[in-house]
Amino acid sequence: MEHNPWHLAQAQYDQAVRHLDLDAHLVEYLRYPKRELIVNFPVEMDDGRVRIFTGYRVHHNTVRGPTKGGIRYHQSVTLDEVRALAMWMTWKCALVNIPYGGGKGGVVVNPHELSSAELENLTRRFTSEISLLIGPDSDIPAPDMGTNPQTMAWLMDTYSMHQGHAVPAVVTGKPVSVGGSLGRNQATGVGVMYVTRQAMRKLSIPIEGARVVVQGFGNVGSNAALAMYAQGANVIAVSDVHGGIFNPNGLDIPALIEHVAEAGTVTTWPDGERISNETLLTLECEVLIPAALENQITAENAEDIRARIVAEGANGPTTLEADEILRRRGIFIIPDILCNAGGVTVSYFEWVQGLHLFFWSEEEILRRLERILVAAFEDCWRVAEERDLDMRTAATILAIQRVAEAAELRGVCPQL
Ligand code: NAD
Repeated sequence: MEHNPWHLAQAQYDQAVRHLDLDAHLVEYLRYPKRELIVNFPVEMDDGRVRIFTGYRVHHNTVRGPTKGGIRYHQSVTLDEVRALAMWMTWKCALVNIPYGGGKGGVVVNPHELSSAELENLTRRFTSEISLLIGPDSDIPAPDMGTNPQTMAWLMDTYSMHQGHAVPAVVTGKPVSVGGSLGRNQATGVGVMYVTRQAMRKLSIPIEGARVVVQGFGNVGSNAALAMYAQGANVIAVSDVHGGIFNPNGLDIPALIEHVAEAGTVTTWPDGERISNETLLTLECEVLIPAALENQITAENAEDIRARIVAEGANGPTTLEADEILRRRGIFIIPDILCNAGGVTVSYFEWVQGLHLFFWSEEEILRRLERILVAAFEDCWRVAEERDLDMRTAATILAIQRVAEAAELRGVCPQL
């Protein structure tokens, strides 16, 4: 069965607005992206050939501030996927109450097939193509799947060359040496731990010794695994695109991270049993953290999930049908827009620091991050209790309410 993330995002939206008393025109207005840019652009490859790539930048909503959202490099990127991710960014930023709208970008490319020089060419050309939209006051990209701090440094440099001076606040997730923020690299993963720990407190599940399973061992997955490990949890299985590794006694996560830096995969780790990604998702555990792609927990495997908590590190890992099955089975879901909001929160801190050219300590950043995420978790928990809703619907209605209020106050159809 084909899963379209944009259909999922809209279905989640429709489900949430049923609980709100919004004017029909507002419901319709917030349902669609504000603007979408499609670019087809040439890049010279190492062998002198020229290849044409397709990229997207979508702004879902701008009423609460400039758009914020990552850039994804993946061979399966589609406009619908970017639309969904942009909409989720709108809700995520509103949920943690930071002054941004939602945006997202992507290029249809398998970054692992390109050399570093080719990736640099591609990034610089794509930056120029989307420079119509991006800027420190209008739209601020960040890393996502397949992009990293180096990609952001190239983006910042290209934009800055056009301006004639350094503009660090045009992008977040940059290396610290070019104006990045301490704590940004691990922010999403550490944030997953903060909200998961909060959920475990509410559900009276001790974190010490809790079995944790992580799908995806990139930026989000490895940092979430490390943060849970540092809390005393027992991370029993992790995976990447090549497969998974399982050790019921717990994996040595710091050592495994070092191993992956050299070997490029978790699957060659000697201290565990090799398992498939499908098996990994169905392991018995207290916390399952999908931190790879969309549509990993579906109607086909939701009955087999044996976790007490699903903490959505990835965006859109659970299909609508699976969501219902998990809910019926009493599995507590920490929805993506809450669970992985640590990244955009520290991106916001990075942007503020870049605008002021005044930088904070890592301790300060993580303290502020924890405060914001715990407050957002508590807001969602309260709404869920008051209205007898699941956490995803509670989070989405809270966010939509904030965006709708801003839209009404600014005026939906102003006379220009
Ligand atoms: P990444 O590229 O650093 O890592 C992705 C990981 O997933 C890699 O280990 C890769 O091997 C693995 N993977 C890819 N396809 C897979 C498959 N089919 N099965 C199992 N594993 C697979 O990406 P990331 O930045 O960690 O992003 C992961 C998810 O988290 C995405 O959904 C992204 O949108 C979301 N997210 C990222 C951030 C951030 O700050 N990086 C913030 C919020 C949300």
